[in-house]
Amino acid sequence: MGDIDTFEGLLAAVAVEDGLRVTDPASGEVLGYAPDRTVEDLRRAVAVAKAAQPGWEALGHEERSRLLHVAADAVEHSAAALAELISREQGKPLNGPGSRFEAGGVAAWLRAAADTPLEPERVGESAVLRYRAVGVVGAIGPWNWPALIACWQFAGALRMGNTVVLKPSEYTPLSVLALGEVVGRVLPEGVLTVLSGGRELGAAVVADRGFGKLMFTGSTRTGRAIVAASAGNLPRLTLELGGNDPGIVLPDADPAAIAEDLFWGAFINTGQTCAALKRLYVHESLHDEVVEALRAVVERTPMGPGVEEGSLLGPLTTREQFGIVDGLVEKAKAAGARIVIGGEPDRDAPGNFYPATLVTGVAGDAGLVVEEQFGPALPILPYRDLDDVIGQANALETGLGASVWSADVERAKEVSGRIEAGTVWINKHGTVHPMVPFGGVKGSGYGLEFGQEGLKAVAVPQIITT
Ligand code: NAD
Repeated sequence: MGDIDTFEGLLAAVAVEDGLRVTDPASGEVLGYAPDRTVEDLRRAVAVAKAAQPGWEALGHEERSRLLHVAADAVEHSAAALAELISREQGKPLNGPGSRFEAGGVAAWLRAAADTPLEPERVGESAVLRYRAVGVVGAIGPWNWPALIACWQFAGALRMGNTVVLKPSEYTPLSVLALGEVVGRVLPEGVLTVLSGGRELGAAVVADRGFGKLMFTGSTRTGRAIVAASAGNLPRLTLELGGNDPGIVLPDADPAAIAEDLFWGAFINTGQTCAALKRLYVHESLHDEVVEALRAVVERTPMGPGVEEGSLLGPLTTREQFGIVDGLVEKAKAAGARIVIGGEPDRDAPGNFYPATLVTGVAGDAGLVVEEQFGPALPILPYRDLDDVIGQANALETGLGASVWSADVERAKEVSGRIEAGTVWINKHGTVHPMVPFGGVKGSGYGLEFGQEGLKAVAVPQIITT
């Protein structure tokens, strides 16, 4: 597969002459075009996936797992090319928790999906609960971690004997088409199909009666539309939606020791991460120290084009997202907030670079606090009373992740139990692991991905009673 080992080869294998225009967020220049698929293309793809499914399921767990490892080998083989394409299309840097990390994560998640055991369970005296394939799984993805999230959606589904049709975000179709090309070459025909297109194609996936299960990762607003639109067909749903994760620093934390992890919890992928730390509550006794420690990390973390080896933060993927972040910070400024560092982007530059920004002196109900900024602008709020700050943490409709920072892990665990979120991290934020289930509560959606729970979610349970 020599032709897809290089960035140029991989891009040439998936790009077309005309269609969805993809721009490089660091320069504003056109990177390439992806096919803009129609509803008719979707119908054909679903028919092919449906025809391929019984044969794929019949291979059995062992053979499918073997093939997922072969797919992981192929991803590792093309990892450099894939990473460069992700950096050029989505913007994240090659280094740090960037595109090389993303490509490596794809291989790791494929291997974990292959190796996770899921045996039938005996229930009581005479019943057995087992998990069967759903049939054809439809997946719709976002633009922030395009390849990794696509893999999260298809790896477990394939392992369980389903075939998959996946629609990537219109902003990052090339990375996902490239991943589909790399993986598709080592799997049987029709098992995994990536169809690029816009929102209308996403809506057509939801309306198509061929899917027994839909995996959606994206905004809460689109998630709600999908629930409503899928009522006719009643597919099973996994909804990984928006987040506005709080972090709570308890009075016994050590600011110098936690600053670096706080920073990456908030600024990973330039803040464009579902489970990033998006509002930081610090006990008033530590507030200034934490702010200064964070400022020092911001000062030494270089931002630049993703493909430059020295960059650790990149541009925002879309101009719209740049506008959202800029608007929230400007509103906070107008209301009297203090910009500790950042907050002054070059709005005339061709790239979507918004500097890493720390904001203090914001009201608890400011837009920057209660809306998902999905970018590199972190509001830091002092608190005095623990019950009060837990109330603030739980006040929003989102419930994806949260974190508690303390020298006393038992104390942090107690606080964690009172937070309404799918995951609460202690002394870190946003780290995910292929064997540890992940998913949101409240407006952040429902259903779990990863580990055994993730496999169950892309299967249908069946009870056999004798
Ligand atoms: P989005 O909802 O705008 O788009 C996501 C996908 O849905 C795209 O592929 C889009 O084409 C498609 N789509 C749009 N309208 C549709 C419709 N009516 N029917 C079907 N499909 C439709 O989200 P985005 O801007 O791409 O992603 C950012 C959001 O995703 C943020 O809120 C972020 O927090 C969230 N996110 C959540 C997770 C998680 O695991 N919980 C992970 C990553 C991102």
